[in-house]
Amino acid sequence: MPSFKARALVAPAPAEPFVLENFTINTDNIPAGQALVRFIASGICHTDISAWSGLFGPMIPSPAVFGHEGSGIVEWLPADYAGPLQVGDKVMASFTRCQACSFCKAGQLSGCHVFTPKNLACYDERMQQQTIKLDSGVDVVVGFFGQSSFASHMPCHFQSLVKVDADTALPPVTAFGCGIITGFSTALSLMPSHTPRSFEQLRSLMSLNGETLQRDGVEADATPQTLAVFGIGCVGAGSLVFASKVASKQIPVVIAVDIDDARLALATKLGATHTINSAGLSSDEVAAKVRELSHGGTGATMVVEASGVPACVETGIKALGHRGRLAIVGAPAPGSSIPVDVFNLLNNQQTIRGVMMGDSDPLIILPLLLKLHKQSPWMQHLVQEYKPENMAQALKDAKAGTTIKPVLVW
Ligand SMILES: [Zn+2]
Ligand SMILES: [Zn+2]
Repeated sequence: MPSFKARALVAPAPAEPFVLENFTINTDNIPAGQALVRFIASGICHTDISAWSGLFGPMIPSPAVFGHEGSGIVEWLPADYAGPLQVGDKVMASFTRCQACSFCKAGQLSGCHVFTPKNLACYDERMQQQTIKLDSGVDVVVGFFGQSSFASHMPCHFQSLVKVDADTALPPVTAFGCGIITGFSTALSLMPSHTPRSFEQLRSLMSLNGETLQRDGVEADATPQTLAVFGIGCVGAGSLVFASKVASKQIPVVIAVDIDDARLALATKLGATHTINSAGLSSDEVAAKVRELSHGGTGATMVVEASGVPACVETGIKALGHRGRLAIVGAPAPGSSIPVDVFNLLNNQQTIRGVMMGDSDPLIILPLLLKLHKQSPWMQHLVQEYKPENMAQALKDAKAGTTIKPVLVW
């Protein structure tokens, strides 16, 4: 019966300082469907801070261990495990899902019917909240995004884990599991499709062959794209990386919008072709600037709203051009609303959608991101490492904006 001595940063109650606590993991008590991971690094994401601060309300358990950008080594697997992982493998953790609902089965992983209960409210396979017992005797909820990686060791849902190359240096890239994959894949999801989606739907519904639904003279959409990214944090950086490293031919204009000049300078390093400091500008002024800078001056075709500020969604919609597509990625407080000109939305045939985790499949996107990063790294511009003992300083620096991506190194 192997047991492991571990440490975790426990959030005792909403907005109360994290406390580094000791606990012991007995592998006999790890629920089915989970591996034990020894974390090397865990990024601190804005969602961790929102969950801890109470922004999401009572659905977030307390006391709890947060953290959902973990990476480390598989320490233990159940005897009956038959998947791709082995003890000693390096892994990155992303998000968990039920594997049984229609969205999971269709590969729309972040669309899982129980995405929020499982990832934010920490429900496990049995749809119960899983706990660990601290050495002090207190029970603490774990399983945040199937990982609760603000810890030296933690049982993790198999679905949350992706094996990576043994030579991967984990602390710099640990934020790929949420922030970067979200920004990167969201931008990917906003690209124009090459055939009308309705054709694809009809084809599968009616079992037709390709020719039946093609019309002569129809070409792939070659409209030069304009991507505007609101909020240059880790998610915004991921969107810029997508545009500059994967789709620079298709997206000749990339506009970064933020209120901080240092972040805009970073955006330029990451491939933004234009920047707008929106401090002191009205929503209409910012939207007009985006439209002016856009390809052909016709407005953005793709907008990623990563600031979490509802007013930026409003500005982003105003900045959209004909058939423009906007993704809401930054999380505001529940109940937030904005005014929208519904006629304009219809008349310009625009799309506004909420996107969770970039609508991504981490098994496909994480290895691709690691490959891109190996070719020409960018995380050195974002990451600041902290010891777990210095969590308060990490949070302070993140709040002040002096650190874009604080990473705890265990
Ligand atoms: Zn599901
Ligand atoms: Zn996150």
